[in-house]
Amino acid sequence: LKSDGEGQSAVEKEIEKALRPLSFEDFTGQQKVVDNIKVFVQAAKQRSEPLDHVLLHGPPGLGKTTLSNIIANELQANIKITSGPVLDKPSDLAGLLTNLEPHDVLFIDEIHRLNPIVEEYLYSAMEDFRIDIMLDSGPNARSVQIGLNPFTLIGATTRAGLLTSPLRARFGINARLEYYDSALLTKIVNRSSAILNTPIEPDAAFEIARRSRGTPRISNNLLRRTRDFAQIKGNGTITKAIAQIALKALDVDENGLDEMDNRILLTIIEKFKGGPVGITTIATAVGEESETIEEVYEPFLIQEGYIKRTSRGREATELAYKHLKVVPPLGKRP
Ligand code: ADP
Repeated sequence: LKSDGEGQSAVEKEIEKALRPLSFEDFTGQQKVVDNIKVFVQAAKQRSEPLDHVLLHGPPGLGKTTLSNIIANELQANIKITSGPVLDKPSDLAGLLTNLEPHDVLFIDEIHRLNPIVEEYLYSAMEDFRIDIMLDSGPNARSVQIGLNPFTLIGATTRAGLLTSPLRARFGINARLEYYDSALLTKIVNRSSAILNTPIEPDAAFEIARRSRGTPRISNNLLRRTRDFAQIKGNGTITKAIAQIALKALDVDENGLDEMDNRILLTIIEKFKGGPVGITTIATAVGEESETIEEVYEPFLIQEGYIKRTSRGREATELAYKHLKVVPPLGKRP
């Protein structure tokens, strides 16, 4: 089960679009962040100024892209969407920036992966709404300044720690999205099943929600797969029993950990005596990129108390042993 939206069919992408909230009212949770941003948006609109640049950070699937689209909607502005790795050369960035209308939103996903040379061009664009472009090279080289329409940059990142400090300093608004609790995710599951015209029983919605790793994107994915099970193995209604069958088939365990979560815990415990062990060593052992482990798996396992980070690496906690029903070695018992 992919949680990052890769490998989706066109139909699935359409469904994902239909489930995406379009207004602050439809966006569940992240109350503090949303309340603040509403004020900033309203204030900017009243002053007829562009909204200050916004940095959104947090694990994938928590609503950074969704929120950016909502912000642009509320600003009644266009949004141009790109991502750090796509902006290869300064001219790619210049092309986007010079086409922005006043107060438009430029959304750069994975902004921590910007090419440093492109990033440098972004500084003056963000600060003074201008860019310097080099024409020619060698003895004829000269730079010309191009003025830009005032715009809002929204940068999204799963790794705020990897942002350079000059870039970070240029965002006036900085918001961290947190994992969602089961009650909020239940609301999201219920809203999504209504959009999908699929009846769902309240305890089934809660079951899917509490096993979604605190992530709306995963809730929606699990809901869609559970809906298939309800259609084929049931009478179309998602009951708790159907949800349990589906979640089991999808390798989501009782506590909502997926197959890779469990593989990571088991590796730390069985291959590395419970740790501490470095992230790259874990990554090699489980056959996953260390970046993905750090961005997707580790934050949730830490937040839920299955592993802890120490100066010497990652360690499995007592909870991890209990979860996998492994007896901790003597030195690790409380
Ligand atoms: P990110 O950009 O942080 O990776 P997205 O904005 O793409 O996450 O969100 C993934 C999906 O989860 C969206 O398509 C949307 O349907 C759903 N979603 C995210 N946040 C919320 C929310 N607060 N309320 C309802 N649905 C949400």
